[in-house]
Amino acid sequence: MSHSLSAPIVVVARRSPDVRVHTFVSSFLDNNIANATHIIEGPTKLVLVDSQFLAPYARRFREYADTLGKPIERLYLSHRHPDHWFGLGTAFRDVPVHALAETVDFLREHGADSLADHWKMGDFLPDGVVVPDGIVRPGEETIDGIRYVFDVVTDTEIDYHLTIKLPELGVCVAQDLVYSGTHLYLSSDLHRWIRVLGQLLAEDHDMFLAGHGLPADRNEVARNIEYLSAAAAAAADGLTGTDFKNFMLARYPERRCPGIFDIYLPRLFGGAASY
Ligand SMILES: [Zn+2]
Repeated sequence: MSHSLSAPIVVVARRSPDVRVHTFVSSFLDNNIANATHIIEGPTKLVLVDSQFLAPYARRFREYADTLGKPIERLYLSHRHPDHWFGLGTAFRDVPVHALAETVDFLREHGADSLADHWKMGDFLPDGVVVPDGIVRPGEETIDGIRYVFDVVTDTEIDYHLTIKLPELGVCVAQDLVYSGTHLYLSSDLHRWIRVLGQLLAEDHDMFLAGHGLPADRNEVARNIEYLSAAAAAAADGLTGTDFKNFMLARYPERRCPGIFDIYLPRLFGGAASY
């Protein structure tokens, strides 16, 4: 597997008098999948979401956080897919990491297998697995004067996914429930995923921080629903493998990062390991 190391993109997605929300996106080019990680910068502390995939981007994300000149209070890991946690071992070993209990259990039991399964990545891999030391439960918490609302979403892009809502900022950190401008990583229950996105649209957020691509608006969430509906219809019509991929590429030529098909198709249609 070869990855081009084009420059990442950094945007300040939202600002208020006391808060800035930063989004750091790895490359959209070649085999990269535009991994998006975020920083909620409060008056005195930083809270991070996810850690990047490839080691060079994890280091760049950490360097960017350090330029803000405030301590990292904690990092929330949204779910167990490796493109979200591999970077922990590269650049965030000194940071408290919090995740859903199911995510923590998975990393403890299967993290080493997942690393071994990606041996072809070579120098882009972390030195080892960081198992999160904090458990997130649904509910609310105020950190550095900012209200965070945590929820668990089951059986969509992944079995257990954490969402983080910042009600005063109108921001929903949706991570892999929303793919912004890129092809989606599809899983088995697309109809449930569609329902969850419909619920998010009915709530009071006007910005959705995606796990891939730039911060999204409601229109992009609606386009995700349409994409999932088209994929569900294609699968119901019996399309699989390369036929399915070609159908989606032809239907959504504007979406970036087609490399994601080759990651999920063997799992969706071929019974490959889910990590
Ligand atoms: Zn992802």
